[in-house]
Amino acid sequence: MLKAILFDLDNTLLGNSMETFVPAYFQALTRYVAHLIPPDRLLTELLRATRAMEANDGNGPTNEEAFAALFYPAVGYERATLEPIFERFYAEEFPKLRSLTQARPEARPLVEWAFERGLQVVIATNPLFPRTAVEQRLEWADVPVTEFDYALVTSYEIMHATKAHPAYYREILARLGREPRECLMVGDDWEHDIAQAASIGIPVYWIADPGETPPSPSFHREDEMGTLVGQGTLADLWGWVKRR
Ligand SMILES: [Mg+2]
Repeated sequence: MLKAILFDLDNTLLGNSMETFVPAYFQALTRYVAHLIPPDRLLTELLRATRAMEANDGNGPTNEEAFAALFYPAVGYERATLEPIFERFYAEEFPKLRSLTQARPEARPLVEWAFERGLQVVIATNPLFPRTAVEQRLEWADVPVTEFDYALVTSYEIMHATKAHPAYYREILARLGREPRECLMVGDDWEHDIAQAASIGIPVYWIADPGETPPSPSFHREDEMGTLVGQGTLADLWGWVKRR
């Protein structure tokens, strides 16, 4: 029986192409601290520290600590010096990135439906970002934390793995106190959202055009695997849950 629903955020609840958003985000951030760190150097170290987070597999520190251990020494500033500047960046500049994203009209009714059914609702976004960056995007998607009491919002402060590892999903299950079969993961990224969640037995719904062919190589251990329960746009998913 379904007890918990896990929603990816970018290109699932919120239209947000990472190919557009991430370069704009990094550019805004490098500009904001250019008086302290040369942009090229900052970009190099941001990418290196992001790779360190991506390698975090649940056995190490939080993603934030994995990032910090590499990043601050590499750019030559104390963490205590830069963190308040980054906090100001998220308050003053990050909100301007909203124009790169598109609210999806089905996001709010879907989240409302999940709460009305008494499900635990998780925002399962790849935890490479601080909580404020996730909360702001949830607001842009019209499903803000001020209105919805999510069981869990995965951000880099609290998680010990990224979506590159099944440990990310195991950590969510442990926090919810749920078995894989009691959950449904909804997301657009085949490898991160679908293959990784399914690999530990979580049923999955793939946000993709209905005609798109799954790039299925990771989907082979049928005994352990979660089921692909559906595929379609967010509007298709909304239609699907309304019929149930
Ligand atoms: Mg996504």
